[in-house]
Amino acid sequence: MTRPELGALVESWGFSGVHAARLWRYLYLGLAGPSDPLHEIPARVRSRISAETRIGALPVLLETGSSDGFTRKFLLGLADGERIESVLMRFTGRATACVSSQAGCAMGCVFCATGQMGYRRQLSAGEIVSQVVHVARALRASGEPRRLRNVVFMGMGEPLHNYGSVMRAVDIIRDPAGLGLASSRITLSTVGVVPGIRRMADDASPVHLAVSLHAATQEERAALVPVARKWPLDELMDACRHFCSVLDRRIFFEWTLIDGTNDTPAHAHALGRLIRRLPAQVNLIPLNPTSGYAGDPSRGEAARRFQRILADDYGLPSTVRQRRGIDIAAGCGQLAAPA
Ligand code: SAH
Ligand code: SF4
Repeated sequence: MTRPELGALVESWGFSGVHAARLWRYLYLGLAGPSDPLHEIPARVRSRISAETRIGALPVLLETGSSDGFTRKFLLGLADGERIESVLMRFTGRATACVSSQAGCAMGCVFCATGQMGYRRQLSAGEIVSQVVHVARALRASGEPRRLRNVVFMGMGEPLHNYGSVMRAVDIIRDPAGLGLASSRITLSTVGVVPGIRRMADDASPVHLAVSLHAATQEERAALVPVARKWPLDELMDACRHFCSVLDRRIFFEWTLIDGTNDTPAHAHALGRLIRRLPAQVNLIPLNPTSGYAGDPSRGEAARRFQRILADDYGLPSTVRQRRGIDIAAGCGQLAAPA
């Protein structure tokens, strides 16, 4: 529930909205769990809350820490037995929660472990928010004085294939009386669901958009990202231009660097030509290993050459994503939930 919905519910029971505001603060400022005492909320209100709502926390089935010392992965159980993964990444000066939007994924990108496992089901807004709360609690438990400030929808699933629940979750985690995440620190990554990108623009969605491109021609892209056949590259680029012009906002493009497949100078030039007129930034992601795909990550020199071409010939800024948590399969495209 959003805060206004919670307020309306508590008031519909004939109680003051003050109790709802207090409950909201317990949950999202205090990060209270289902078994924590809700002091200062009268017993009659508490019993109505527990009778008519579910204050959930997702049980942790497995928690693993990377040898890098900065990355923790959580396998979380859902009420119907499905499982999802979420990741806490600590960098110098900031911490990021990487959350899942679906159990599995229907998009079938060839190099992605989530795609390789197939689609299980949509997550509810509550299941998405619970992951953020869980990661925020883990950060606090690690003794980190700072609050969780960054959230990326880059875990399992395609967020624009679950638009309603994802945007509801975004509203809840942005609420200034709760988790209070700044929209400038929330990024949604999409495989390129064209209607979803257009809808974000038309809804004036406040969050950053990253589009997983990986190839600059329709044919090469369709070989890596099968849904490119449904939403072809030219339609995708139209939607990206629409997003940038309607919202007057920058856009990110992700490019998984695969040795010999999409990391040559010709590929860098093709990408540069494709996006040079957009206010774009490129995130290069050296391929992480998954059991269903045989490719290798690009070598460091190839990544640097790719960046130089984008910068020098097209004026495009780019970053190479730090490899984190690969030893515990917590890197991009490595999340899956073995049964
Ligand atoms: N479904 C969304 C978000 C999740 S994946 C999307 O596809 O954008 C987050 C990023 O990791 C995407 O850019 C995705 O293409 C990339 N990725 C998937 N598998 C990968 C792998 N094995 N190595 C590196 N990046 C990968
Ligand atoms: Fe789904 Fe994204 Fe993985 Fe593609 S890369 S299969 S869209 S999670």
